[in-house]
Amino acid sequence: MISMFNLDGRVAIVTGGNGGIGLGMAEGLAQAGAKIVLVGRNSEKNAAAVSRLEKLGVEVFSIEKDLTEATAGAEIASATEERFGRIDILINNAGSNIRKRPEDLEPEEFRWVLETNLTSAFLCSQAVYPAMKQVGAGKIINIGSMYSIFGGVVSTAYSVSKAGIVQMTKSMATAWAPENIQVNAVLPGWIDTELTQKARKEVDGLYERQLARIPDGRWGTPEDHAGVAVFLASSASDYITGTAIPVDGGFSISG
Ligand code: NDP
Repeated sequence: MISMFNLDGRVAIVTGGNGGIGLGMAEGLAQAGAKIVLVGRNSEKNAAAVSRLEKLGVEVFSIEKDLTEATAGAEIASATEERFGRIDILINNAGSNIRKRPEDLEPEEFRWVLETNLTSAFLCSQAVYPAMKQVGAGKIINIGSMYSIFGGVVSTAYSVSKAGIVQMTKSMATAWAPENIQVNAVLPGWIDTELTQKARKEVDGLYERQLARIPDGRWGTPEDHAGVAVFLASSASDYITGTAIPVDGGFSISG
């Protein structure tokens, strides 16, 4: 690994790191040498992801936690410091969706999507800030979406949460630049994961319709996110902050 991408000795928290895009990113960070803390609600998925990452020769542990709980961020930060003594990298990746037209979305459902995708990222970022400040450096990577840019008939709450991720990224990047904490967002395109397999069952023709708009001619994979995660988590990106990088095979630039 070229030294500017080396993450030996760094500690990374990946929310939703037990599957999909989060695990793809965690694998990238582990290959670059980082110790990993995974967060997810499902203990079986957590255990499977931990043993997969351990095979890469790094220290890993998981925290079984629902990120919609108000104290989740603080608990995750203190468990990480207790075990590894520092926090260098946070990937706010956990996310979910409820696909309904705006007139059918219950207020509770709207709030739940925002709490899962946006408030949890805010609280986790706030919780790791003191540890990053103490280290004198930090990298926060927030996962947005094409719905950070576009709207959708059945994605009102999701789009609000993912647009919020981009603005939160810019605001925290501005606020925490003096502490040498870089905050950036990644905007995945159409990626084959559990989340989109459910979407494909709920929305007729989704796979083919989106495929037709992707210049690279294929849906993305979790592994497609390993490189951007390493880049944004490493000193290679030290002068890059507040950006939102699409990982979408050209979806967002095709007419
Ligand atoms: P998956 O459903 O495969 O993974 C979601 C992850 O988040 C799982 O690890 C899940 O673990 C965790 N998670 C969800 N809710 C919670 C919660 N309340 N508390 C703790 N963990 C939670 O989805 P993807 O990998 O596709 O999505 C990852 C991120 O990427 C999301 O933010 C999503 O919005 C975003 N994204 C995905 C795209 C795609 O095409 N797939 C496109 C654009 C953005 P567990 O179930 O164990 O809690």
